[in-house]
Amino acid sequence: MVIAIDGPAGAGKSTVARALAERLGFTYLDSGAMYRSVALATVRAGADPDDPAAVTDLARALELELSPGRVRIGGEDVSAAIRTPEVSAAASRVSVHPGVRAAMVERQRSIVADGAWVAEGRDIGTVVCPASPLKVHLTASEEERARRRAAETGEQIAAVLASQRDRDARDRGREHGALELAADAVELDTTGLDVDGVVDLIEAIARERGLIGGPGS
Ligand code: C5P
Repeated sequence: MVIAIDGPAGAGKSTVARALAERLGFTYLDSGAMYRSVALATVRAGADPDDPAAVTDLARALELELSPGRVRIGGEDVSAAIRTPEVSAAASRVSVHPGVRAAMVERQRSIVADGAWVAEGRDIGTVVCPASPLKVHLTASEEERARRRAAETGEQIAAVLASQRDRDARDRGREHGALELAADAVELDTTGLDVDGVVDLIEAIARERGLIGGPGS
C-alpha cells in the first residue's frame, strides 16, 4: 500500500513524508533522489542534461541503491552530492525526458510493489501509483517554500526563489509526469503549519479511511 505525497519544490514533502512514514511504521521512498541521481550521473559524465538519448541511456544503466536516508550509485554514497544547487538544476532538466521518466517510474513501481510505503514526488498519485488509497498534494506559498529551502541550504532567498520558479514551471509544463493535482487528492496548504500539524492531519485521514489501525495499535 502506498500513501502518495506530491507537490512542488519546497512544499515540505520530504520532511512530512519521512515523519509520516516513521510514525506509521511505513517505509519512505524519495523519488526526487532518483531523478537527482540521474542528474549527478549526467553532470559527471559531462553529458548534456537536455539530450534525451544520452540521459535516458544513463538513467537505464544507473546502478542505484536506495536505503533509508541514503542513496548510492555503483556503491558510492552520493546522498550529499545529489543535493547541490547544480544537481538540483540538472535534475529539473533531466526529469522532463519521457525515457528517463519511464525508467524511473518502472523502478519506483517495483520498489513499492510489496509492503507499506509513503512515497514522495510530483507524479506518485497521478502516474506511479494511481491506485493509491490516499493521495496528498502539499502546497505552500512560493515565498514560504523559498524561505524554507534557503534556511536548509544556506542560499540567498532571492536566488532560491528564481531557481524554484524555473523548476516549478518545468515540473508543471512538461508533457509526461507533470506536476498536477490528482482528481482524488487531498490538497493541504502547509503555509504557517508545522511538520507535526501536517503529519497529524494526514494520519487522521489515513485512520478515517481504515488504512491504519486505531490509536495505539
Ligand atoms: O523533490 P526533489 O526536489 O528532490 O526533486 C528533484 C527533481 O526531480 C525536481 O526538480 C523534479 O523536477 C524531479 N522529480 C520529478 N518527479 C518526481 C520527483 C522529482 O520529476 N516524482
